Amino acid sequence: MNNFLDTDISYLTGVGPKKADILKKEADIRTFGDLMYYFPFRYIDKTKFYKISELSADMSNIQITGKITAINITGQGRGQRLNAIFTDGSGIMDLVWFKGVNWIRKTLLPNKQYIIFGKPTFFNGKYSIAHPEIDELTPNTGKEKFIFHGAYYTTEKMKNSFLTSKGIQNLQMNLLRNVASKIEETLPTNIINNNNNIGLRDALINIHFPISQEMLQKASFRLKFEELFLIQMSLIRRKLLRQSKSEGHIFSKVGNNFNNFYKDNLPFDLTGAQKRVLKEIRKNTVTGKQMNRLLQGDVGSGKTLVALMTMLLGIDNDCQAAIMAPTEILATQHYKTICEMLNGMPVTVELLTGSTRKKKRETLHTGLRDGSIQILIGTHALIEDTVQFNNLGIVVIDEQHRFGVIQRAKLWNKNVLRPHVLVMTATPIPRTLSMTLYGDLDVSIIDELPPGRKPIETKHYTDAKRRVVFGFMKEQIDKGRQIYVVYPLIKESEKLDIKDLEDGYESITRAFPLPEYKVSIVHGKMKAKDKEYEMQRFAKGETNIMVATTVIEVGVNVPNASVMVIESTERFGLSQLHQLRGRVGRGAEQSFCILMSSYKLSKESKKRIETMVRTNDGFDIAEVDLKLRGPGDMDGTAQSGVGFDLKIANLAKDTQILQIARDNAIKILDDDPMLDKPENRILKQRVTREENKKINYREIS
Ligand code: ADP
Ligand code: MG
Repeated sequence: MNNFLDTDISYLTGVGPKKADILKKEADIRTFGDLMYYFPFRYIDKTKFYKISELSADMSNIQITGKITAINITGQGRGQRLNAIFTDGSGIMDLVWFKGVNWIRKTLLPNKQYIIFGKPTFFNGKYSIAHPEIDELTPNTGKEKFIFHGAYYTTEKMKNSFLTSKGIQNLQMNLLRNVASKIEETLPTNIINNNNNIGLRDALINIHFPISQEMLQKASFRLKFEELFLIQMSLIRRKLLRQSKSEGHIFSKVGNNFNNFYKDNLPFDLTGAQKRVLKEIRKNTVTGKQMNRLLQGDVGSGKTLVALMTMLLGIDNDCQAAIMAPTEILATQHYKTICEMLNGMPVTVELLTGSTRKKKRETLHTGLRDGSIQILIGTHALIEDTVQFNNLGIVVIDEQHRFGVIQRAKLWNKNVLRPHVLVMTATPIPRTLSMTLYGDLDVSIIDELPPGRKPIETKHYTDAKRRVVFGFMKEQIDKGRQIYVVYPLIKESEKLDIKDLEDGYESITRAFPLPEYKVSIVHGKMKAKDKEYEMQRFAKGETNIMVATTVIEVGVNVPNASVMVIESTERFGLSQLHQLRGRVGRGAEQSFCILMSSYKLSKESKKRIETMVRTNDGFDIAEVDLKLRGPGDMDGTAQSGVGFDLKIANLAKDTQILQIARDNAIKILDDDPMLDKPENRILKQRVTREENKKINYREIS
């Protein structure tokens, strides 16, 4: 089907070996199909012209007609710059070139009518456009056959080989002239009709050369729909396949461990959301099918408890349970919390981390093999090959976004019956993204915080206000509170980061001197033992301030710490900031989060800080994050190796289309799971082709 799309790009008229090479290297365009699916990133209305007097600084690319009245070259060599004064009668503006100055100088003629195209900026009381596209005005200007012209991404190297946006457009025209008549439909007729879709051929023609706004919209809908629909088809197929294949442990009883814990050890009532999620897990683990469930819940929503009760359920059914945390600090903390919560109950809990001694390790291995250890808590160490369980029934993976998928897979591949898997993430994921990233998992959401939490107050200060902040910190310490001060840690410049941290530590110890104040410091370069020691001092209330890098980001629980000061806030991502803030607000006291930043901030940094000040809702924050960063950079995406190479759909914007696509996929697969019906044959071909193309990007089962 549409096999001509695999033809090498060098066979296209207008593409010689040199251009073919550049297309491959710069834009990953290797075949006819790659080119055809290289869509414009926006469209320019070629019938619309602006006057200079109408310009405003927030405009994107626009067209103006006018003439050049003066040309001026300044600077030497690489510093050369060409300035042309451009006027249309309504005003004057500058056109500026920094490159190819001599060439431009020769081509620009005074008093000739030009159309210029580009993005205006406002500086020193005047508008200018840098490196505008420039064309002569002809009698046909404004009467183009195609009102909307696609603009294609190009790189410097592409432009140098005449593969400008216009150059690409010419190639698209050549290609469509050649092959449009051969394009065959790739979706079943009923799917097209039910969703008011246009055919593939019309869609591909109109996405490059729209004949009207309406057709452009239809083309874009059709192509986005198809893209998302295919992903959903393959995710849901994967889920069905897994469900039909993977036998799971049956947790049929709710036994003594679960019940006694609930009756005697639980110091508070479960929230409604915790109860609901436990029910979902219960239902899922009695079916005899292996559970793969994602548990989403904001920081502090009580996921650990749900995890623990799920593990108790497993133990009641003669299984072992394991919980895996991303850092040693967090594993240790889980170990302590869980031991405390299980106080007095006959459950054996052990801890296994990178720093567990060899001797202890050997005892652990034995206990795991003979089944006497019921709950194992640990870091990556617990998926090493030497670790063998007797009957591992449930694995909880905490703070999922820190784990690679391969590590996950290892854990459950070595058992005959795969354990149930509960993946917990404290980074709320917007719905669209979780439908795509986790479309093959079951999802539970804890959308309710335990009662009595006071919302954290968040404030933003610039570095100039440091004295005010120090004053506030002193007040809080006087009231008996403890404080985190966190510095960013970015791998590429680790040295610099440590220096930031050390400088910060010094200035803090100067402002908060001994013996009145005690300050702890924890960072990634410290030995685990020393880290642990400092963490403990802080946790026990022996120090007032904890200066740290983001090692404390995840999971640490010190209820008396009620102030989180974040330094260089602009260097943190939104989800990280939200995680950090979640370290406070765990006790009865009013908590505060103070975001320090420099005075000059980028637009995005501003938006991030504003969002943090505005809301405590992790899902709200995740939506903003997705919009700011795009799905490619979201936490979890990169690490999980989900390389959805979306050509046209946008997970931040196309929520509705995604939902429609998913509903369609579910409906079809409900009715015809193997896609064996004649009307679905076309789909089966398509889906298997896609699935074969993608390497096993996310082998979860
Ligand atoms: P998460 O892992 O979701 O960030 P935790 O499981 O660490 O959150 O829980 C945060 C705090 O809330 C813990 O101190 C825990 O004991 C407490 N907690 C959990 N569930 C409840 C509940 N239903 N009522 C009151 N407190 C709760
Ligand atoms: Mg947690």
